[in-house]
Amino acid sequence: MEKQIFKNREIALLTKHKKEIVIKPILEKETGCRLIVETRFDTDKLGTFSREILRPKSQLDTARMKIRTAMKLLKTDIAIASEGSFSPHPFVPIAWNIEIVLLYDKKENMEIYGVYEGAETNFSHLKTNSFEEAVSFAKKIGFPEHYLILRPDNEYSKIIFKDVDQSDKLKEVFDFCMSKAREGTVFLETDMRAHANPTRMKNIEKATQDLISKLLSFCPDCGAPGFVVNEKIKGLPCELCGLPSEMILKYLRMCHKCKYTQEQLYPDGKVSPAQYCNYCNP
Ligand SMILES: [Zn+2]
Ligand SMILES: [Zn+2]
Repeated sequence: MEKQIFKNREIALLTKHKKEIVIKPILEKETGCRLIVETRFDTDKLGTFSREILRPKSQLDTARMKIRTAMKLLKTDIAIASEGSFSPHPFVPIAWNIEIVLLYDKKENMEIYGVYEGAETNFSHLKTNSFEEAVSFAKKIGFPEHYLILRPDNEYSKIIFKDVDQSDKLKEVFDFCMSKAREGTVFLETDMRAHANPTRMKNIEKATQDLISKLLSFCPDCGAPGFVVNEKIKGLPCELCGLPSEMILKYLRMCHKCKYTQEQLYPDGKVSPAQYCNYCNP
């Protein structure tokens, strides 16, 4: 068995959406740490998926903000944070979820994160005046295990109902929203908060597993954890003309502690298809 890299250290996590359910068991088992949870801080202040508060920073910077707050409130020198994003996929008409689980170890000056990226999500919405349509939408997105959020009219209404997690409640809130609606419609959307969305929770778990596998990659020189690819260098030669293309030529790994560096040539093959060449396919 590998040595337990955070044995007996306390790692802080800020969450009011029960993310410890998936993060704690894996992290404690694989690293020997003790995860301590802070629920008093309102992480929704850093942005909500339902747009009442827009996230002012990037996904990674928001996670960093949560880390700093967690370390301060729980007085630890190491913390972990999770931050997700949902958006339409750039090329195909599906929803796309990116989950990152970031860890910062102040003592060792190490920042490292795990990622899940994929289409496994129920992220969607519906505007309707028909309760029947609302019910079939609910069914499609995995209600009631997956909660719904309702508003009168449209996605910008100031009137908002969260924690809709039962059929009776859905009917009651739907009727109320209809009675308040000036446009005669109700806006329903999936609730993306972790505790309200088992599919997202699963993806946070996958990102945590990715983090663990990165943490448990050790520097061949000094043995420090977290020896991962820090840089991807483009310029794989084109199959036709041999000029550097947009595809990856090599990966670089650098140890955060001793700065030992390792190059990995041709991670995606030795030549690039001409479609990625700026000369053959400008
Ligand atoms: Zn090293
Ligand atoms: Zn070419």
